[in-house]
Amino acid sequence: MSNLIDRLRNKGVVLTPQRLAVVEFLKKSTTHPTVNEIYKVLRKKYPMMSQATVYSTLELLKRIGEIQELSIRKDKACFDPNPKLHHHLLCRKCEKILDIEVNCPIIKKGKVKRCEVEEVQAYLYGICPACLKKEHGKKE
Ligand SMILES: [Zn+2]
Ligand SMILES: [Zn+2]
Repeated sequence: MSNLIDRLRNKGVVLTPQRLAVVEFLKKSTTHPTVNEIYKVLRKKYPMMSQATVYSTLELLKRIGEIQELSIRKDKACFDPNPKLHHHLLCRKCEKILDIEVNCPIIKKGKVKRCEVEEVQAYLYGICPACLKKEHGKKE
């Protein structure tokens, strides 16, 4: 947490209280929130917070490689505080986004079919384990 703030300061990022609140929210988050979800939570504590501030802070963090933007939901962008390479599954029942760690030799960074792959993100759509369990529970 403090590491990230140090990294941001080293990169010359000016951290206003509002920006700091967004950074802190993201670092605590284990889900993949949308701009609106972040805004709704932070606005209670920071009445000066605007959706534009949330958005511009997210854009900034994305630009310097501290977070990822996901377009797994077709209607809205989600943000992932984990910048490391991993994939996602969107559950069509509960609409949760799960992190999926798969080692796929085709989906990787670097040289692929004479192209230089710089960014990789696989979006998987289906049903999460919790919802599957619920469904099976009903049948039995
Ligand atoms: Zn689910
Ligand atoms: Zn993720």
